[in-house]
Amino acid sequence: MHSMRVLAVILLAASAARAQSTETFRSWNQPVEPYRIMGPLYYVGASDITAFLLATPEGHVLINSGFEETPPLIEASVRKLGFRFEDVKVLLTSHVHFDHAAGHARIRERTGARVMVMEGDDDILAGGGKGDFRFDGEYSFPSCPVDLVLHDGDTVTLGGLTLTARRTPGHTKGCTTWTIDLADGGRTYQAVVICSMTINPGVRLVGNPRYPAIAEDYARTFRILEGLQGEVFLAAHASLYDGAGKAQRLRAGERPNPLVDPAGYRRAVQEARGRFEEQLAREKAAAAATLPAVGRVIADVPSPADPQGRYVLYLHGRILEEQGREAVSPDFGRYEYDAVLGALADRAFTVIGEVRTRGTGPEYARRVAGQVRRLLAAGVPPGNVTVLGASKGGWLTLLTAAEVGEDEVRYAVLAGCGSTTVELGPRLRGRILSVYDEQDRFRPSCQATFEHAPRLRGRKEVVVHTGLDHGLLYTPRPEWLDPVTEWVRAGPASP
Ligand SMILES: [Zn+2]
Repeated sequence: MHSMRVLAVILLAASAARAQSTETFRSWNQPVEPYRIMGPLYYVGASDITAFLLATPEGHVLINSGFEETPPLIEASVRKLGFRFEDVKVLLTSHVHFDHAAGHARIRERTGARVMVMEGDDDILAGGGKGDFRFDGEYSFPSCPVDLVLHDGDTVTLGGLTLTARRTPGHTKGCTTWTIDLADGGRTYQAVVICSMTINPGVRLVGNPRYPAIAEDYARTFRILEGLQGEVFLAAHASLYDGAGKAQRLRAGERPNPLVDPAGYRRAVQEARGRFEEQLAREKAAAAATLPAVGRVIADVPSPADPQGRYVLYLHGRILEEQGREAVSPDFGRYEYDAVLGALADRAFTVIGEVRTRGTGPEYARRVAGQVRRLLAAGVPPGNVTVLGASKGGWLTLLTAAEVGEDEVRYAVLAGCGSTTVELGPRLRGRILSVYDEQDRFRPSCQATFEHAPRLRGRKEVVVHTGLDHGLLYTPRPEWLDPVTEWVRAGPASP
């Protein structure tokens, strides 16, 4: 009974939402007059849901198919312009949402056009909206086979005309911005069809489990869009570039062509970036407010990992491999392993550490590199991941740095360098801090290793004066904890 009632409530809510949006969607899908934008590029879309025809003597390219109900409008517009709909040879899209690609299956069937879709969106189109990080379960549409998967920078050429596909993800994972060079009146204009810069309601930029890299993707998308000319400013929704108003001005004979609007393009990108940055800052502040004041100690990468966390993977010295967790050295005393981990956790880091088995070899670095990669895959920024190793753990840390090969991941080596680590130099990537006591009998400076490591993004060596010799690393001393903490917290922008 109870579950029936819950189901009824959910269905009611869904149909209410659907009814409301259907009215909006209908208003986006009204027939409008087709027109020539410039040269071979024509507008063949509905009132707000755009579709663009690139007409060539060898057939046509169509960008976007609209809602499931839009193809007849597009077909009528193409014919009104004097072209044959059957001559559409290539079918593209801005992104695979139900308002831009739901007519794909029908148009492909009707024209035999080849459907080309950006990686990231290809599976979603083939699945009729299934797998979409925002709308899966909310909206679906007729699935459409994909004839070719595109990648960022790929070009589509037909009849001597070329379109360039830029992957501008965020709104969808394969969101595609199209650029086309158009000749008019003796000069060339870059037309840009913006995919979408909108962050849909309910989409989180921070800690989004269905799209961990969403914030980085949006940021990159804005950089790409800012690098384009956008002289002829177009988009998946006509409202973004005042398509209706500009079409009217064009029909009234306005010259120069009102669709040429690079200032409008720049403004639209800037405004969207502002909204993105505002939401990101708001979410980051909210996430920071709920962060635990102290960290914790765990044996392996948590699942799911918190993309907001700062992680320290601690690799202990050799003596623990031989004696276990309670190791005592005749020279340096007790290795206070748990106190070291606890001191790091007290500094609000999530500390990952385990006692290795005796005689662990260089292959252990692959395990640690795998842990680092899992954190990055969960959306943790590389600057928030530090591998910290003491003595033999320092050697394993350097091997990990070579294995991971990421410039922004951080590493700290406590008394862990020596003649054997110099040969690792050329393979080292990342930002490496070295700390040791000036009286350390093993002379574990990383300078020689650094000198052979031209690819390091950051390097620093701190020599402390405790008189503890190699025993420095046995206890959580502020002399090493402080510089390490500073290194871990420095974030992506420091040396
Ligand atoms: Zn969309």
